[in-house]
Amino acid sequence: MEPAWLDRLVLELPDAVVVADGQGNLIWGNPAAERIFGMANSDIVGTSALELLHPEDLELALASLASVRGKNIGSPIEIRVKTPTGWKLVELIGANLIGKPPIDGLVWCVRDLTERRRWEVATNDIERFRSLVHNSANILLLLDRGGTVDSVSAAITRMLGHDQSLVEGHPLEDLVVPADRPAFQSALASALEDRRAVQGPIVVEVDLRRRDGGVPVPCELSIINLLDDPTVNGLVVSAHNITQLRSTRDALERLATRDPLTGLPNRKLILDRIEQMQTRGRRSGHDGAVLFIDLDRFKDVNDSLGHRVGDDVLRQVAIRFQGALRESDSIGRLGGDEFVVLVDGSGARNAEAAAHRLLDSLTLPFEVHSAARPQLTMSASIGIVSGAYASAEDLLMDADVALYEAKATGRNRAVRFQPHMRGEFRIRIELERDLRLALEAGEFFLVYQPVVQLDDGALQSMEALLRWRRPSGVVVAPDAFIPALEESGLIVEVGAFVLKEACRQTRRWRDAGLSTSVSVNVSPRQFETDTLVDEVRGALRDSELDPTSLILEMTETTLMRDSHESALRLRALKDLGIRLAIDDFGTGYSSLAYLQQFPVDILKIDRTFLVGAPQVGPSAALVHALIELGNALGLKTVAEGIETVEQLVCLKREGCDAGQGFYFSRPLEAADAERFLATAADPALAAEPVAVTN
Ligand code: C2E
Ligand code: MG
Ligand code: MG
Repeated sequence: MEPAWLDRLVLELPDAVVVADGQGNLIWGNPAAERIFGMANSDIVGTSALELLHPEDLELALASLASVRGKNIGSPIEIRVKTPTGWKLVELIGANLIGKPPIDGLVWCVRDLTERRRWEVATNDIERFRSLVHNSANILLLLDRGGTVDSVSAAITRMLGHDQSLVEGHPLEDLVVPADRPAFQSALASALEDRRAVQGPIVVEVDLRRRDGGVPVPCELSIINLLDDPTVNGLVVSAHNITQLRSTRDALERLATRDPLTGLPNRKLILDRIEQMQTRGRRSGHDGAVLFIDLDRFKDVNDSLGHRVGDDVLRQVAIRFQGALRESDSIGRLGGDEFVVLVDGSGARNAEAAAHRLLDSLTLPFEVHSAARPQLTMSASIGIVSGAYASAEDLLMDADVALYEAKATGRNRAVRFQPHMRGEFRIRIELERDLRLALEAGEFFLVYQPVVQLDDGALQSMEALLRWRRPSGVVVAPDAFIPALEESGLIVEVGAFVLKEACRQTRRWRDAGLSTSVSVNVSPRQFETDTLVDEVRGALRDSELDPTSLILEMTETTLMRDSHESALRLRALKDLGIRLAIDDFGTGYSSLAYLQQFPVDILKIDRTFLVGAPQVGPSAALVHALIELGNALGLKTVAEGIETVEQLVCLKREGCDAGQGFYFSRPLEAADAERFLATAADPALAAEPVAVTN
């Protein structure tokens, strides 16, 4: 055949033909090779064939090369080759002409399959694919390497309202809300770097704009780089609506960081914020202040009106506190009735002012759903602390100390922490702890002090008085620990013990033929709990004691805390058939009006009025007036603290009904009290001395 004819054939051949030497360097290519590889022949010559191959196809190509060398002619393989415009899919078939002049090399026929494959995909899969894409709930997008939308699925209209055709040709970024664009850009950049998508899709969360300008839709975009895939040649993006997911996640996060009752930051979050404030303080030199707030006697609200009302009060308090704070302050609930307020930075100087705004916010009564008490007054105590601390926990510990101080010095106040408070606090805490243990270990016991009829010396009743025998054997008088029992609320349990024990002892005496009445002291805290009536009823039932044998003693201050409530409570107690005495009468309000209002039976005139009697003086005049008052109201009068015969004579003259004091007997342990009772009951024994203990 004519060389010219052959030349022409090679020149016009639509498939590329390239020749490589034994090392795989290209030494010749036909014009079709220039077209397929997108390179000038001069560039093709000298290039290593391996350089043109896609790295993933290298293994296949080397295997085929080996088989070509062995069998002289290989079987066709499909591989990707590099071109300046991207990867192309080609079919390759080689022949081994090494050692066969004049060619002496490997001959490769290369056919461009890209178009054909596109067409195949387009025709074979396109219907199924289109339907899949079209019906997917996710928006599927194909982007070019610049991030412009080549095509987009119909979900874009359903999810965001945009027309497919108006989105195509524009950057996807235009749909992303401005705040999320930096995140989107960096995700796009990562996807472009990861050319073979080895890391799987790049995922980013962005809000996508709706056509109608409504609330943007939160979406998770998964971007996968298929620029190397000749059939796709782009970035495939799937946008998944995560509105539901995000709201679930937000709810979970709220649960973890918010107090469900008030919606305020919870303990965990507030501790974090304290740490942050401390860090800022170290940098700026302004430490900020922390207010530790505890509602006063909140436990009583819960105990007497129930948790529903308690919760309602806490919610209302949270709202009032928020209203009392500045924008730069933040507030959280630690749990129970404890709140924490952070006064940031230089505002720390205003911590006291903030504390007083908080206290003031509570002054108006709270409306609650309770038939018994539709209005409540609340107050709070506040511990203030500022300065640098190692941890938020440490800081709160000192705040707690200051808070304790605020409670101990009268409540409804704010106290700034001072280091000396730590010691006092520890002592009180230890006392409370010991009292708790004492209750469990049965270290409390009762002594009894007789109350004697003044005209004939007959025994009227026994007053039960609490004592604490410490493990050391030392017996502690109530003035040293009743305040701590009150403060800690332990008085409620201890008081119940006293009631039960006093009734049981009185019953035992009665069974022994030594009938007497018994009086029991009731503390303010005990009186304010709604369980008192039940406890009294229970104690009477268990001991089968006649209700008239039981006297409850309360001070005026206890009754006057909430006189309307008190009248109702006293009525309920009276209805059980018991008697009521006002203890320490004369030291409190001594208002005639309330005496008439309360169903009281006995006035116990405080012993301070007897000091100095019977000399004439203000005390004597007062005792006179108090006895008169009792008589006028038809109440029995009992004088406390009679120590001398002179006092006795004076009181008898004034017409006082009964007396109690060391003159008759000190408080006695049960066994001694029993001897006293026996003596009093038997006139023949009356001369015998009585053992006394206190
Ligand atoms: P109170 O109810 O006024 O009890 C009378 C107190 O006066 C008793 O002190 C008693 O020992 C003391 N006393 C009696 N006669 C004389 C006297 O002639 N001279 C002097 N100087 N003192 C006399 P105590 O037992 O130390 O009790 C002190 C207070 O502790 C009681 O005052 C009462 O308010 C309270 N308390 C005692 N036991 C209980 C209790 O079981 N529950 C409650 N809530 N409070 C109690
Ligand atoms: Mg008493
Ligand atoms: Mg008294």
